[in-house]
Amino acid sequence: MIGEAVMEALRKIVPEDRIFQQESMEKHTAFRIGGPADVLIELGGVEELRDLQQYLNQEGIPYFLLGNGSNLLVGDGGIRGAVLHMGTAMSKVQVEGNRIIAQAGAFLSQVAREALEHSLTGLEFASGIPGSIGGGVVMNAGAYGGELKQVVTRVTALDEEGRLLDFPKEEMKFGYRYSILKERPLIVTEVELRLQEGDRIQIRETMDDLARRRREKQPLEYPSAGSTFKRPEGHFAGELIMKAGMRGFQVGGARVSDKHCGFVVNMGGATAQDVADVMREARRRVKEAFDVELEPEVILLGEFRQGL
Ligand SMILES: Cc1cc2nc3c(=O)[nH]c(=O)nc-3n(C[C@H](O)[C@H](O)[C@H](O)COP(=O)(O)OP(=O)(O)OC[C@H]3O[C@@H](n4cnc5c(N)ncnc54)[C@H](O)[C@@H]3O)c2cc1C
Repeated sequence: MIGEAVMEALRKIVPEDRIFQQESMEKHTAFRIGGPADVLIELGGVEELRDLQQYLNQEGIPYFLLGNGSNLLVGDGGIRGAVLHMGTAMSKVQVEGNRIIAQAGAFLSQVAREALEHSLTGLEFASGIPGSIGGGVVMNAGAYGGELKQVVTRVTALDEEGRLLDFPKEEMKFGYRYSILKERPLIVTEVELRLQEGDRIQIRETMDDLARRRREKQPLEYPSAGSTFKRPEGHFAGELIMKAGMRGFQVGGARVSDKHCGFVVNMGGATAQDVADVMREARRRVKEAFDVELEPEVILLGEFRQGL
């Protein structure tokens, strides 16, 4: 699919040193798992992204927008087509009064740090979520009672035809780990947030406290993609998995964390299929024991010998 003619065309849009063929997705996912992408491109800016989108659409080459890869399980066979990585070149953060304007590649931790430096409160909950703000908007990322929808006021995104559109918060269809981006293949380029003036010391204390709680409760010492499953109505996924007797359940290198059963962790050398096998068994046992359907929060990409 990505032959020399395509590579030549890509090199006319993007400098060669930002194009990587057969790039292992292990390097780009928090799980440290995943086969090669046919081609991975480090994006340089919105205009370049628009040109790439136009070219790839015209050639019928599939593409995938990668943020920080912290919510992804990429199959062992990798990804066909192009992976467009929104990284440091698209991560500027500006603060104007109580308004923050962040390019989509900015880390949530980076935006939260800017908020702290300007004594702005409201984003403390996001300081320990290891994703980009673009990926955060897609998922309406949240923690400890906060969600991005509480502070996001506008999202700028490229639509399917390459138009740059502004979406006020009301049009984002934010819900639990849900937004309009789950329905439409939009590409977030910029996010506007509005926060409140606060007390810097208190903001820092809250962030430190949440970081401590994460370290205590979550298996941050192993690669993972965070919570494997969404929280089922009226339950906690981790608790159901634990009660179903799956603490420490392991297939190959993938294991239900002993510290927090809501996380599947990579103990070293796990394949994507190992993780999928653990997830399938967790779903089966929880369904059998409690008649609850666990819905994956982690996004599966590529092919799996046996799915969930
Ligand atoms: C240890 C750990 C703890 C975590 N804790 C939390 C938590 O407390 N709360 C929480 O909500 N999540 C948590 N997560 C999950 C993850 O960090 C979030 O879902 C995060 O928002 C994903 O952002 P990302 O940039 O890594 O997205 P990716 O994983 O790169 O992508 C996720 C999805 O977003 C899409 N996407 C990414 N950027 C864009 C963009 N600019 N435009 C359009 N689509 C885009 C991708 O195509 C993909 O569909 C955790 C993960 C880990 C590893």
